[in-house]
This record gives sequence, structure tokens and C-alpha cells, in this order.
Amino acid sequence: MTPFTFANRYAQLPSAFFARQLPIPVAAPTLITFNSALAEELGYQGSVEAEQLARWFSGNEVIPGADPLAQAYAGHQFGHFVPQLGDGRAILLGDVLDVRGQVRDLQLKGAGRTPFSRGGDGRAPIGPVLREYLLSEAMHALGVPTTRALAAVTTGERIFRDVSVPGAILTRVAASHIRIGTFQFFAARGNKTALHALTEHSLARHYPDRLQDPVPTMALLEEVVKRQAALVAHWMGLGFIHGVMNTDNMTISGETIDYGPCAFMENYAPDRVFSSIDRDGRYAYDQQPGIAQWNLARLAEALLNADEDPNTHLAEAERIIGSFKTHYDAAWLAVFGAKLGLTHVESDDRVLIERYLAELHQSDQDFTRGFASLLSTLKQLPTDVWVSEDWLADWQARLARDGTTPEQQFALLQRSNPVVIPRNHWVATVIQAAEDHADFTPFKALLAAVTRPFEHPDNSAYEQPAPPEERVFRTFCG
Ligand code: AMP
Ligand code: MG
Ligand code: MG
Repeated sequence: MTPFTFANRYAQLPSAFFARQLPIPVAAPTLITFNSALAEELGYQGSVEAEQLARWFSGNEVIPGADPLAQAYAGHQFGHFVPQLGDGRAILLGDVLDVRGQVRDLQLKGAGRTPFSRGGDGRAPIGPVLREYLLSEAMHALGVPTTRALAAVTTGERIFRDVSVPGAILTRVAASHIRIGTFQFFAARGNKTALHALTEHSLARHYPDRLQDPVPTMALLEEVVKRQAALVAHWMGLGFIHGVMNTDNMTISGETIDYGPCAFMENYAPDRVFSSIDRDGRYAYDQQPGIAQWNLARLAEALLNADEDPNTHLAEAERIIGSFKTHYDAAWLAVFGAKLGLTHVESDDRVLIERYLAELHQSDQDFTRGFASLLSTLKQLPTDVWVSEDWLADWQARLARDGTTPEQQFALLQRSNPVVIPRNHWVATVIQAAEDHADFTPFKALLAAVTRPFEHPDNSAYEQPAPPEERVFRTFCG
């Protein structure tokens, strides 16, 4: 019996889609952690012995049934088109059928050089691996579509960034790793056959209801627009800033991918940026919906190239891209309405939400705690009163009109406003312990807290914003 039910559908696509590539073995793989709940979801039947897990999830031993490869893709990076990127340090072990019959990718990130590595070393430092583990699992617990983390191992090798740091490998699980950039890769080469094959593969995998549509490319575009609009609205509701919304980092499935210099903001400012490489604020918090739409327009262009005449469905594509704003506005209203405890959200509620955000901004409040404080306000518990009497009175009046009981309102507030997010200074602290002393206890404690984001953690310090001297203003790529 093999540990997973491998389907390896991607490996059956034409050879231009990938390069077959085995993971490059590492010196001394050691397991940091294994996500047994996720493994169960994936129908995992293998050993749970740490040494075996370390061999499999480092790539030192190829999991039986896997068919490892590196995927080809292109992408717009900070607005500039790069015709060939591809998996430079990731190996797709294969795709597996999970217990619900869904196809899920298993990918090793940091598994060595591939034909797409360009100048890179093919490896990942321990910091970014732990960061992605924490943030992606937190996002899942927060109810946001995202890639997941199945395992993390250290390699026993040191790698060089600005300084020497321990190497690590993350096992990432995704509905697929197909990106806008995957379509751009084939559009840039005029490969219409590949664009049709990729469209069909994507529909079969993510939007099977649309497989019979007369124009599959436009059906796909429409579904991706809806998913991305909902995704970005989710991010906004959490104060999440992705940081590198390049078209190679935007999935067709609508899952969040590529946790590089991303961050949850603390004190609220709409133009907040963390990424050290985002010098012009292209990917600032409030730019995210506009950028998502821009990226989707690049997907539309790529898909139009599947037709003999790229103008055939131009008007349709323009209409679909134009519909992004409608989908996004509706999703934003639902997300933020729920954060105010409203079940029957109306378009007029936008004003109430925007007034609240303006007050958060003016009083320099922590985004997460600001919204969570509405719970105490509703219960008329003593709280730091920073929001205006005017706003509170209007909010109370609006809640009274919502047709729900105070208990229902409280429950909705509670499940829409987390108390724990992976705060930057905590992430930095647990990474430091791992880098300096190979001590993963702080990482595991933080992971336990951020994966129960709606519960008060044992260590209440996880709920607090960073003290001024520990505030993080910049985040870096791995
Ligand atoms: P990212 O900024 O993570 O979206 O990565 C952009 C591109 O750089 C992708 O093609 C990655 O595979 C590649 N890349 C990132 N880091 C490395 C590395 N250490 N070695 C090789 N390729 C890399
Ligand atoms: Mg990437
Ligand atoms: Mg990255």
C-alpha cells in the first residue's frame, strides 16, 4: 500500500508543462513538525515515525507513487513580464486524491535546483519555511482559502542569504499550483494547444460544473474572477497584506499562495506596506483589490490567445474583468458587515463600516483588537473607549434593525473577529529560537495559538500588539 493515492494528473499533460526532476538529497533531514490532521484529510496511510517522515518530506526518499517534476510558468513581477520563471526550488511530488475525492498537490519547497532555478540555489532558509507554515495554517483556521503546510524538516545544511542560515524544506499542499503565470507561459509562446489543455485541466479540477460551457476559456475566467474577488475581500477583513501579488503568485483555484514578505498589519493604515522589495507600495493593503483585477486582466489576455483570432471573445473578457468590482464590493460588504455583527447586510452599511475604519485609522488602533473590542462593547463590558459615541449609537441602532437576537449578534462577532493572528514580532521571535538553538518549542506554541484564532490563548501575550521596541516594519523574501 502506498502512503497516498497518487493521481499525478499534471504529469499527464504535454511535456512542455514541466521538467521531470527529482529532489536533490540533503545531508541530514530532521523532522520539525508533521500536520497529522491535514495528513488524515489527505488519506495518508504511511508511517508516522519521525525518521521516515524526515526522509520522505525532505525528498531524500521519493514517496512511493510520486512522479516528481518542476512546473513551468511565467509571470508579471512588479508589473514587468518575465517569460520564464517556473519552479526554481520547488518539486511537485504529484497530485493525490484526498478523502473527499478532491485532487490536491503535494509539493516540496526548498528541494534543490531545477531547470528553472536561474541563479538561485534551489533551497529555502528555515525562517521563511516556519513563517509560511505559521501563516498558511493560521489563514486556514481563519477561514481563508489557502495552500496548507503538511510538514517541515531541517536539512542539516547551511545556506547563504546575507549570512549563513540553516536550510529547511516545507511540504505545501494546494488545490493546484496552477497560476495566472502558467497561462502566460503558453500565451507568450503562442502555444494554443497548451492553452486549451490547461484550460480544460483547470476546469476539470476546480470548476467541473463549467466543463461543458461553449467557451471554456471565458467560463474559467469568470470563475477565477469570482474566487479572487472573494479571496482579496477575505484578506482585507483580516488586515492581511500579501506583499508579492505578482501574476505567478496568484492561483487559478483562488487559494492564497506564496507566503513571502506578507504580514498582518497591527495599527491600521490603509496604505500600509511591509515588504522590503515593494518600494513603491504597489502591493500596499489598499491596492490589493485593484492589483487583483489587473492580474486577472493579464489572465484574460492569456486566455484570449487560445483563439485563432484573439479578438473573438474580447468583449466578453472585458465584461468579465469589469465584473470584478461588483463581486469584490459584495464580498467586502459581507466580510465587514459580519465583523460588525450584521447578518442582513445592506449596501448602505458601507458608510457605517467606512466610518469605523476611519476611526480606527485616526486613533491608530490595532486592526485585529479594534474589531475584537466590539465584543466587549456589545456586552457593555468596560473597554478602552476609542470609538466615538456617535458611531456607537448608530451601530447599536443598526444592530437593533437587523432582526437578530443579541446572542446571535455576539456569536457572529465572535466568529468574524479573531483574537489571535500571527503577529510579526512573535513570528520573528520563534524563528530566532529555531535559527540560533534549533529550538522549535516556541514555534509549536505559537502554531497552536494561531490555529485557534477565535479562542483566547493560554499565553495572552499572543493577543497583544507588539510593544513599540519590538514593532516590525519590514518583512523579507526567503
Ligand atoms: P517568488 O518571489 O517566491 O514568487 O519566486 C519567484 C521565482 O524565483 C520563482 O520562479 C521561484 O522558483 C524562484 N526562486 C525563488 N527563490 C529561489 C531559490 N532559492 N532558488 C531558485 N529559484 C528561486
Ligand atoms: Mg512565487
Ligand atoms: Mg516566494
